[in-house]
This record gives sequence, structure tokens and C-alpha cells, in this order.
Amino acid sequence: MRDYDVLVVGGGNAGCAAALAAARNGARVLLVERYGFLGGTATASMVGPWMTFHSGDDRIVGGIAQEMVERLVARGGSPGHLHDASDYVPTITPFDPEIHKALLFEMMGESGVGLLLHAWFLDATVADGHVTASRFATVGGIVEVSARRTIDATADAYVAASAGVPTQQGDERGRVQPASLMFRLSHVDLAALSTYVRQRPDQMRSSLKTHERTPESLTAVAGLYELWDAARARGAVNVPRELVSFFATPYADEVTVNMSRVVGVDPLDPDDLTRAEVEARAQVMQLLEFFRRDVPGFARARIAATATQIGVRESRRIVGEYTLTADDVLAARAFDDAVARSAYPIDIHNPSGSGTSTRRLPPGRSYEIPYRCLVPLLVDDLLVAGRCISTTHEALASTRLTPTVMTLGQAAGTAAALSLRERVTPRALDPHLLRERLIRDGVDLRRAEASVS
Ligand SMILES: Cc1cc2nc3c(=O)[nH]c(=O)nc-3n(C[C@H](O)[C@H](O)[C@H](O)COP(=O)(O)OP(=O)(O)OC[C@H]3O[C@@H](n4cnc5c(N)ncnc54)[C@H](O)[C@@H]3O)c2cc1C
Repeated sequence: MRDYDVLVVGGGNAGCAAALAAARNGARVLLVERYGFLGGTATASMVGPWMTFHSGDDRIVGGIAQEMVERLVARGGSPGHLHDASDYVPTITPFDPEIHKALLFEMMGESGVGLLLHAWFLDATVADGHVTASRFATVGGIVEVSARRTIDATADAYVAASAGVPTQQGDERGRVQPASLMFRLSHVDLAALSTYVRQRPDQMRSSLKTHERTPESLTAVAGLYELWDAARARGAVNVPRELVSFFATPYADEVTVNMSRVVGVDPLDPDDLTRAEVEARAQVMQLLEFFRRDVPGFARARIAATATQIGVRESRRIVGEYTLTADDVLAARAFDDAVARSAYPIDIHNPSGSGTSTRRLPPGRSYEIPYRCLVPLLVDDLLVAGRCISTTHEALASTRLTPTVMTLGQAAGTAAALSLRERVTPRALDPHLLRERLIRDGVDLRRAEASVS
């Protein structure tokens, strides 16, 4: 049996931040991941750009998330935070998933995080309400790992569910947001597209003025309604999406497309997931033809890459000491034990068809996420980070965004290490101690507004 202070299961951005934070705070850490690389949805599903690090003009995400962006910028893997010309959020942060994969290995090495890749979490051992060990399927058979603290960063709450933590999934009818297979198109000419949108400003969702529509300002393109509707009307595409949607990458001649949509998928059902992959890949081929034939500047476009796995927006989440609600998000609520902040709207891609609903916070405001959302009911020595923390279906539509999950990971990793040092369970950890440490480590938890509850 391998033995560690902290075991992090799931090497997505939340798990990576958790592992780094725990190790940098003195713990011996093992990070286990089912793929042969780290980054999870950001790399395996190629989901980007990250949004958003800002509320109005204020940066509200710091710490390890900001460190990753700065290190990506330093090696040409990101242009940094760009103004979002679609006006949906204040800034977007494009990144190159391949450079991100390499950077994450490098950061784990520097901080002394142990890695076990190609290892699939199977189940957890619970004794007297404490998680004591986890089993993984690996190329060499079953590997067992014991740890004094375990962090579930699988996004699907696999560890928590196995340990007996109560969980929930989807809306009141159990329906989750649709899944999408991301792809990148290279050899595109955004100058030609900007000429078109200058002539047809009514075709863009954004409020940018016509003269501002330069190729560089096309950071987030949402609209092109007539082109899209015509393609759908003639039967060239069969994708339940209401508009064309793609984003800038670090490269001038490449975009990342967020348009495929498969509805009615239970991401924890193997047959559903299989159907989703097959359907989405067929959609991508239709979308390639649409872009080449119909979208100005895309005649020579090529698929630079498709994601390794379909992007899952939503699946199972834990029930924790506190469950964040839509009201908390929209009222920009602050909490005494806050460990992360976000200003992203509640945007719900229709679980059963076309359309996306968006509910926004008051301009310039942000909400906070309490530490209690990371602490599961019933089971001790376990923390949860990333997409599967304790929220409602609506609140998750905001908390799931990448800058936020990275911050939640840093909080979980720091809490795991601090709870060991203080000799208390994570549930009993003083949140003020945790907040002090997070602020020391660069997380932006400054209070701007909102009453603390
Ligand atoms: C289509 C789509 C579009 C999105 N758009 C945006 C956007 O534009 N901007 C933005 O900021 N965010 C966006 N998001 C949200 C964001 O990308 C994700 O919510 C976030 O990256 C989740 O991070 P995570 O670390 O919690 O989970 P993940 O990144 O999913 O990490 C979980 C990790 O756990 C591993 N794992 C899972 N199960 C096991 C197991 N049994 N054993 C071992 N390892 C396991 C996985 O391989 C993965 O590496 C989007 C998401 C999707 C799907």
C-alpha cells in the first residue's frame, strides 16, 4: 500500500491546483489521474477560453490560477486576459492546451507532487466515517493508496459517492446541461470575417460599435445568425445550437469552436456517454463543412485538433455543509468562510434542446463561495474541489467555470495541509486561518461589497 499525507484524485485544473497547494504547504502529495496528461476538461476536452478572472475592471481571481496564466504567457501559450469583445464577461483568457499539459507536469515536478497516471479510481475505504484508502485500476493491476486526507477533484464526485457522501445530479428532473465536443480550426482569416461583421453588425450578439470590429477584436464571436439559420434550413447542419460561437486562441489564424451539442446525456451512464461521443463527432464534420462553405474567412479552414473526450458541463455534485444557490450568486452574497470569488453569470445551456438562458449579477459585483461547499456531509478527512462541490443545478452553472474551479482547488489543497498541521478534521478547520493562508498565497479574497452572511 502506498501512503501519503494528501491524495488528490483527478488531475483537472482543480485537482492540479489542490495538489500544488497541499504540497507547497508542506504535505506529501500524490495526484492520480486516469489519462496520461493533466488538465482534465481544459486539455482532454480542450475547453477554453478561461473566463473570467475579472468583475468589471477588478481582478477577483489570483493565486495558482493567475500563476498558471502568467507562466503560459511567458512561453507563448496564452495572450493573457483579453477584453471580451462580445461583452458577455469582462475578460477571457485563451490558452494552448498542449502547452498547458507540459506546464502542469513541470509545476508538479517543481513542487514535489507525486504522480500516478493511467490510474482509474475504483472505490474508497471508509472506517468510522473517515476515508482511509482508495483503490485504482492501473496497467499493473489494482493499486491501493492510503492517505490522511483525500481530495475528490474528479468533477463527477466519484470518491465522495463511493465513500457514502449524499449526492445530487441535474435540475429538479435530474436533467443536466448538454455535452459538447470542442474543436480548433486553423488556417482562418479573421480579417475577412471582420469585414463581413462591419457590414452586418446586426449579425453579432455584442454591442461593439462597427468601427471597433477589427480582427483582433473578434475575441469571442457569437451570432452570425443568418448564415447559421440558412445552413440549418437547408439541412446542412443538424445541431441544436441557436448561434455560431467560437473564440480566439493564442494564434491569429486559429479559433476554438464551442458549437456541438448533445442533449439528454447522463455523463455517468456509459451507453449515454458513448452515444454522445459518436453524435458529437458527426456534428463536428457538419460544422467543418458549414464554416468552410458559409463563413467569410474560413474557406481554407482545417481541423487543427478535436478534443480527446466530449466536454461534460454537468454531472454529479456532493451535498456539503453548505449548498450554494442561485440566489447567493445573483445577490452577490459574501460569506465569512469565503474561499473563492466569481462574477460569471448563471448561463444554462438548455438541457433538452436549443437555447441558452443567462442571468447576470449586478454590474461590477461578484459573489463568494464558502469553504463549507467543499466539506461533504457525513464523511471526514475528505474534501471536494472543482465542478462537483455542493451547489444547486443553477449555481453550478456559474461555479463550474475554470478560474473558479482552480481557486476552489487551491482552497481544498491548502485546507487539507492546514488541517493536518492543526490536527483537526477539515470540517473543524478554522476558516479564518484558511482564508489568511489563501490571501498570503495570492488568492484575491478582498471584500469589495455585499453583506457577509
Ligand atoms: C463544453 C464546455 C464548455 C465550457 N466552457 C467554458 C469556458 O468557455 N470557460 C471556462 O472557464 N469554463 C468553461 N467550461 C467549464 C470548465 O471547463 C469545467 O467546468 C472545468 O474545467 C472543470 O474543472 P475540474 O477540475 O473540476 O474538472 P475536470 O477538468 O473535468 O477534471 C477532472 C479530472 O478527473 C479525472 N477523473 C475523473 N474520473 C476519474 C477517475 N475515476 N479516476 C481517475 N481520474 C478521474 C479526469 O480525467 C479529469 O482530469 C466549459 C465546460 C464544458 C464541458
